[in-house]
Amino acid sequence: MEKKSKPTFTVTTPIYYVNDVPHIGHAYTTIIADALARYNKMAGRDVFFLTGTDEHGQKIEKAAAEKGLTPRALADSVVGRTLDLWKALDIEYDLFIRTTMPIHEAGVQKVFLRLLEKGDIYKGEYKGWYCVSDEAFLAEDAPLGKDGVKVCPDCGKAAVVVSEPTYFFRLSAYQEKLLEFYESHPRFVRPASRMNEVASFVRGGLKDLSITRTTVRWGVPVPGDPAHTIYVWFDALHNYITGTGFDWDMERFARFWPAQVHLIGKDILRFHAVFWPAFLMASGLPLPECVFGHGWWLKDEAKMSKSRGNVLDPYTIIHAFGPDPLRYFLLREVPIGLDGNFSHEGFVHRVNSDLANDFGNLVHRTLTMIQQYFQGRLEGVDAEREDDRALREAFDSTRASVRGHYESYALNKALEEIWVFIGAANKYLADNAPWKLAKDPSRRGRLARVLYQAACAIRGASHLAAPVMPASARKIWDLLGESTTPQEVAFDAFGFDGMACGQAMKAPRALFPRVDLKLFLAEEAGKPEASKETRPQSAIKETTMDVITIDEFKKLDLRVALVLKAERVEGATKLLKLQIDVGTETRQIVAGVAETYAPEDLVGKRFIVIVNLKPAVIRGVESQGMLLAGIKEGGKAVIPFFEGEIPAGSKVQ
Ligand SMILES: [Zn+2]
Repeated sequence: MEKKSKPTFTVTTPIYYVNDVPHIGHAYTTIIADALARYNKMAGRDVFFLTGTDEHGQKIEKAAAEKGLTPRALADSVVGRTLDLWKALDIEYDLFIRTTMPIHEAGVQKVFLRLLEKGDIYKGEYKGWYCVSDEAFLAEDAPLGKDGVKVCPDCGKAAVVVSEPTYFFRLSAYQEKLLEFYESHPRFVRPASRMNEVASFVRGGLKDLSITRTTVRWGVPVPGDPAHTIYVWFDALHNYITGTGFDWDMERFARFWPAQVHLIGKDILRFHAVFWPAFLMASGLPLPECVFGHGWWLKDEAKMSKSRGNVLDPYTIIHAFGPDPLRYFLLREVPIGLDGNFSHEGFVHRVNSDLANDFGNLVHRTLTMIQQYFQGRLEGVDAEREDDRALREAFDSTRASVRGHYESYALNKALEEIWVFIGAANKYLADNAPWKLAKDPSRRGRLARVLYQAACAIRGASHLAAPVMPASARKIWDLLGESTTPQEVAFDAFGFDGMACGQAMKAPRALFPRVDLKLFLAEEAGKPEASKETRPQSAIKETTMDVITIDEFKKLDLRVALVLKAERVEGATKLLKLQIDVGTETRQIVAGVAETYAPEDLVGKRFIVIVNLKPAVIRGVESQGMLLAGIKEGGKAVIPFFEGEIPAGSKVQ
């Protein structure tokens, strides 16, 4: 029975509306859930991670009719959008529940019958203002508009009066029980600030809840009374138990229910913190430990939503950077309960500063030196010294606090601490200057120790960050010559110096490429949906990059270029297309300097160009090189020109 005693961790996302095109908001909730699921697996728990889609209701029925499809066929044709995005974001869920699945429909009907027999569901008549778009009756105290019509407070559309026979859930009977439950479980609603909001709503009085419709055909039929379908919220919320096994795999259900955490957007808190626990109490089922309402990602200071037209397409970022930088940014930038403002500037800055500079450079430099000085194998390592021990101890204390942050869902703090440790590892390398030690053959053992310490630090930092950045952590461990993945090593089993000294390490590859903010934004500006993009409000604070060696500097082929021809790039206010003579040939480059220079200003001018930069396509135009310019506050470029005569193609050094 040892297996039964292994602790479990169940995490859920809301089920997403199947006809929505998934955006950053959906991605955010699911990334949080995935990071928590991965951490808990590494912490030795048996994890169940549930996500899925809400596929019933009037909106689906209408959208399907417009396309000449059955509702089920519409759902089948669009559910792939959500599944594909989860794949692209490296989401490792255990079950994807669709409310149209027979296991779900049967479970909902079972609960309905149970509550009907018990008297917690009864038949009556309901009349009220109903928002068709949101499939919800308005609150009874919603104000009447000038024209005698109530307007939906959520979507702003006019509501209609609906009167119909309906089955009610006896919510009023649970008011006191809910208040007692909140009292004895103060951490049921998180962040804690929202608990009061929920409790005062309940204290204000609970009315019985209409949970069926005769006007909606596309839903779970009421057993024994098929003129009624079960209303979407009663249907949807029960996904959490049907997905966990209720009534079709009771062994799994017993094991994984109740959930440790339901992750939700704060806009659906009332459904999850009031209605859902009342439904569960009525059914005699245990309540989830916690309902965590996360904040919204705002763009232009407005909640991102399809109806507002400010939706950010996650693929824009995934295609350019892969999933990990997006996962890192969303989880690092704000605590889970607060709102965050999404800007491409903020995103690029984080990627460059934290990922490319701090972590990427540490990995790159360390592995390069291990190749260069030891052909990839650290052997003859000196004994640990005082500062080596300090780095190891810094890791141990980081690991302890990171663990605490993961346990309390403070993912941003976990990442913050990991990056403080990465900073300490960078400082350790700078202090020990292995490139200097390498010049003295008598200090080879010390050199090996310093690089071994750095490699251990990298291995440790990627182990800690693996729940958030699984693909990058895997790649780094592979480069270090580890035969397992970070996720296979339990949090408690990990030791800082658990890496064999003689193991073969690989030459570094690019992990987090630096992104040119101007070019990234210029590309973005070309896309129609980015037209409302916020522009940089203040100068981006660039951190100074790490020290590079003269050899690294010499890899840059810098030359004097002469401008032969210049023109604007169609549709881009910042870009000029230049034909330049670099001595050996004529090249074309695209430069973000059009705000400072007219095309005619540049013809005949000479400046410095990096000619061995990998060509890039910017706004559909190929750029074979990059000119050097100073960036003023506000992002305008100023090019340093050569005053005197110097032939095109002359080397710059
Ligand atoms: Zn509405």
